[in-house]
Amino acid sequence: MRLHVRGLGLPDETATELWIVDGRISAEPVAGADTVFDGGWVLPGLVDAHCHVGLGQQGAIELDEAIAQAETERDVGALLLRDCGSPTDTRSLDDREDLPRIIRAGRHLARPKRYIAGFAIELEDESQLPSVVAEQARRGDGWVKLVGDWIDRQIGDLAPLWSDDVLKAAIGAAHAHGARVTAHVFSEDALPGLINAGIDCIEHGTGLTDASIALMVEHGTALVPTLINLENFPGIADSAVRYPIYAAHMRELYDRAYHRVAAAREAGVPVYAGSDAGSTVVHGRIADEVAALTRIGMSATEALGAACWNARRWLGRRGLDHGASADLVCYTEDPRLGPHVLNYPDVVILRGKVFRPW
Ligand SMILES: [Zn+2]
Repeated sequence: MRLHVRGLGLPDETATELWIVDGRISAEPVAGADTVFDGGWVLPGLVDAHCHVGLGQQGAIELDEAIAQAETERDVGALLLRDCGSPTDTRSLDDREDLPRIIRAGRHLARPKRYIAGFAIELEDESQLPSVVAEQARRGDGWVKLVGDWIDRQIGDLAPLWSDDVLKAAIGAAHAHGARVTAHVFSEDALPGLINAGIDCIEHGTGLTDASIALMVEHGTALVPTLINLENFPGIADSAVRYPIYAAHMRELYDRAYHRVAAAREAGVPVYAGSDAGSTVVHGRIADEVAALTRIGMSATEALGAACWNARRWLGRRGLDHGASADLVCYTEDPRLGPHVLNYPDVVILRGKVFRPW
């Protein structure tokens, strides 16, 4: 099947015309191509840089449900997903041509009782972390996910899970296996150890301070703030009645979150869009995260780039280049106008196959 699409590209509103042959993009005209989109906007497939396919409220789920999650992402145009930890082995989904591409970070790595029950591999002894990280690096798709901090019920507040030396060894082990590392971090205290150990990305990052932002800039660490998921912080605080210090801390982190993420972006930290779908946040909300990013000082174009061309480059995936896989989204209206446009692509093309989801 030979296809043809024409419209405006972003960020520069350049006239874009491309052809699709055997699932790949051709910049050269191809005879006999069927024009499936003409007039509007043509972008590389959207990216959700933090979501979970195969994760439900209680942890692992059936594959059918994981497939439904992936289909929901495809229908909103999220064709490249960085899966930030899943207890379900979803690698068989890679055989499905109709599902988004998934870059997996393996399983969440935590200490006993230091993350949501059923989600993580829990290490009895933190000295196991480097070897477990190496194992996750071998079975993942280039990323490893740590839980950097969580409530410590002994002290009644958020606290780091790992000592600095263990983090250095573990992140070094991942890098030796060609994998990047990211970590769930809510509070202030876990950040310096992770960033100084060479971590590649921070998830959430609500506890960023001027000092840890400066460290991120120095180390080139990226940030995926998952802003729409932060809306759950007040509810988490409300339900933590037995831990008043923790509850107050969560409320304080929530109150300052947009300000801190804005400061990180302003300082030059690369910020990407992740919805944190899976478990609490439902799938298919990348457009809402893009809208939220405009509230930390990003222009509509920059926010869309954080969920599209810039995120693809960061994750090492191509855009609308000649020879690249034909993974793209087309909109009749300008997708920068907001979720009422971005959430409803007129045409989704994945591996050269056309979907008209809405
Ligand atoms: Zn997550």
